[in-house]
Amino acid sequence: MNENVQNSFLVPPVGHPAARSNRDNSGQAARPASIENSLLAAIPRKEYRRLLAGLEPVTLIFGQVLYEPGETIRHVYFPNKSLVSLLTLADGHLALEVGLIGREGMVGIPLVLGHTVSSVRALVQGTGMAMRMAATQFQKEFRLSVPSQRALYRYIHTLMSQISQTAACNRFHVVEMRLARWLLMTHDRVKSDHFRMTHEFLAHMLGVRRVGVTKAAHALQKQKLIRYSRGDITILDRDGLVAAACECYEVVKDMHDGAPAEAAVPARALAVAT
Ligand SMILES: [Zn+2]
Repeated sequence: MNENVQNSFLVPPVGHPAARSNRDNSGQAARPASIENSLLAAIPRKEYRRLLAGLEPVTLIFGQVLYEPGETIRHVYFPNKSLVSLLTLADGHLALEVGLIGREGMVGIPLVLGHTVSSVRALVQGTGMAMRMAATQFQKEFRLSVPSQRALYRYIHTLMSQISQTAACNRFHVVEMRLARWLLMTHDRVKSDHFRMTHEFLAHMLGVRRVGVTKAAHALQKQKLIRYSRGDITILDRDGLVAAACECYEVVKDMHDGAPAEAAVPARALAVAT
């Protein structure tokens, strides 16, 4: 495992709001007023109380690598406001985003399926809080909790759908549509109109050269859908951005929302990616 950030950054100090969030005054584990991660929120109260003993609030930092391909998974992560990209590597250095995980999911899915080694790079692309649990404890809890199994199997299905749709998207859709999709997916997860993302990072996410990102971002900016300046992105017109994105966005969103997608294959004309 390659957790590039020192532990002192990962674990909030005593007194940090996140560190207090899951303990009441008596020191007993208590359910916080609101659980931001949807998977944790879906687990019944009794099960959640038991899980809390093994959950630890951490801050994930932009650029931090949680796992590399071939490395043992030591923790699972339930993002709150943080965002984690799953990247597949080619030729040892080319990276392409195949999945995006935020508050709706969990990082460390191979453990659910009995594998302890990651096949992808898990890279933090949005700084924020997450709850993490040691892999050994997670596997033990997972075996004990039928509600957790149900929630995680459902999530695995939607994540697989996202990954397969992203593969088709990367092959068939132009950069501008893909950038709009990616911005919408990020917007859904961070719940903010404003976030930071460099050209270089976006190029890795979309598997294109930086000039491709520049052109696509200019096009979206020209339509007054976003404002993009030196890595600062502001969503100005979300509905317009939905119209500009390929239908992969709605297909995947429907899966995450639990509604059946009307068409597994986007009906919009497929434009060959550049
Ligand atoms: Zn697409």
